[in-house]
Amino acid sequence: MRSREVKDPDIVVITIDEEDLQEFGQWPFSDKLLAQLLNKVKAQEPRVIGLNLFRNLPVETGKSELEEIYRTTPNLIGAKRTVGIEIAPPKILEESGQVGFSDVIADPDGTIRRALVSINIQGTDLAENSLSTQLALTFLEKDGILPEEVQKSRWWSLFDKRKYFRLGKSVFAQLSRNDGGYVRVDHGGFQLLLNYRIDPYNFDMISMRNFMEGNIPPRLVRDVNQPILKDRLVLIGVVSDSSGARLYTPFSKNKSEDNKGSTMPGVFVHAHATSQLVRAAKDGRPLLRVWPQEAEWFWLFGWAIAGAGIRWYLLNIETLNRRVLTQNACLGGVLAAGAIALVGFGYSSFLIGFWVPMVSAYAAFFLAAMVMGSYHNHELQKLATLDGLTQIANRRYFEEYLYKIWWKCEREKRPISLIMCDIDHFKLYNDHYGHQLGDRCLQQVVASIQQTLRTSDLMARYGGEEFVIILPKTDKGGACHVANRICQTVAELQLKHDKSPTSPHITVSCGVSSVEAHSQLSPVELIASADKALYVAKAEGRNRTSFRPYQNLPPLV
Ligand code: GH3
Ligand code: MG
Ligand code: MG
Repeated sequence: MRSREVKDPDIVVITIDEEDLQEFGQWPFSDKLLAQLLNKVKAQEPRVIGLNLFRNLPVETGKSELEEIYRTTPNLIGAKRTVGIEIAPPKILEESGQVGFSDVIADPDGTIRRALVSINIQGTDLAENSLSTQLALTFLEKDGILPEEVQKSRWWSLFDKRKYFRLGKSVFAQLSRNDGGYVRVDHGGFQLLLNYRIDPYNFDMISMRNFMEGNIPPRLVRDVNQPILKDRLVLIGVVSDSSGARLYTPFSKNKSEDNKGSTMPGVFVHAHATSQLVRAAKDGRPLLRVWPQEAEWFWLFGWAIAGAGIRWYLLNIETLNRRVLTQNACLGGVLAAGAIALVGFGYSSFLIGFWVPMVSAYAAFFLAAMVMGSYHNHELQKLATLDGLTQIANRRYFEEYLYKIWWKCEREKRPISLIMCDIDHFKLYNDHYGHQLGDRCLQQVVASIQQTLRTSDLMARYGGEEFVIILPKTDKGGACHVANRICQTVAELQLKHDKSPTSPHITVSCGVSSVEAHSQLSPVELIASADKALYVAKAEGRNRTSFRPYQNLPPLV
């Protein structure tokens, strides 16, 4: 879906299709026929000829004629295959270095999205070029364009291990393992992201029989005074369905086995790769570029921040969150808007030659929005169960928790105890010191009491300056011990209370009650019993604890 591109003016593909095979009646056709074809091509003085056919065995007849051509055509490049089953190139071409490998490298889904520029020869520092590289370099040499390695400064090469080379107007960067959307891809050799031309078959092309017979389609003629191949780059390859490689490319629509129509003959993949090099070097046609790894991290991080931030903002708009429906509609809207923005940005980047990771960015956006939602919920939950002033559980949570723990103790046949705790003469404290200091005093008392408790105990604010503590699996003795310790700890805080008739410092009184939890009994009455015990402790002179066993309340009549 990119805007159109003009045809590559330098490349001509001579195709060998099904009808050619029928006309010439033999496959692989004889050396003689191939020699005739090459002679005809050669006569038109192309700059370079790429022969994307694998033939290293003679096919009778005409062996010597073909060998003669190999020997006398320095601008002819043959193909070989190096990975997997090796197919050697014609010997004569190999000896003069006129070969390139035509192996391609596919993504895990079988699609060719990368071009191999060169590979390292095993066990050496040397590299050998692919057919397309070899063709492009030979072609560009005549324009005086030679590849040169880009030297990196020492500190830069610490961060960036990839190699770069400059060719004419462009700098080519070696693919590395996490480029663009790739994760840990096999990035051996020197690979490039293939930036296919917009139209898969928009090359000057002519079938072998038409070429041999001189049937030149008028659209191929650029200059009536010159043969069509003059000074151009010629690629010869098989395009028939029955012979020759066919490859999946991003142009393939349907990747089922039997759908060969949407595959691309290997020779065209090489034509695209060659064209990419030539056009980038000569015209500066954009390559497919990716951001540096660090920039990709920023990008992902930015999307995560955006997802979390927007969700947070929405969750805090009061009017939106009154109804679950509007809340969900908003969330859906945000997720859709994020997707649209991302696709829009990714597409426009692609148009100017950048491959931006999209799936991972959207995942970051989506997950961050979700996590922010749960975090917000968690915060709400906390608000609903915590007391604002003292940051301990509120009465609502206390009651809920007491029922839960009651059942648990009942099942395990364990006792449960309750301590009701009230600050002595706190009204006088407030009257004397003011409510602000009263609040601070409350906080300090709570903090000190909490330090005396185990993690399994729950302390809650029951009323103004009254606290209740649930002690699961604790009997009378244990609970009284804890209550005494509470009185002692608060007294030891030595918070001044000049108006208290009990002590010059803040003190508390505790009422304790205990019971063997049972379904016939009621937690409400345990609270009432502890409350009564507290009343007794107050009456007996404060700054002390008092115990009262669980008692059924008298009926309310
Ligand atoms: P007693 O020893 O009998 O408990 O005497 P008391 O003065 O503590 O009596 P009471 O329990 O009736 O008094 C409760 C006082 O606690 C009333 C109010 O001034 C104070 N109070 C309740 N909640 C708060 C609060 O959140 N902040 C402050 N500063 N004071 C509070
Ligand atoms: Mg009090
Ligand atoms: Mg009170």
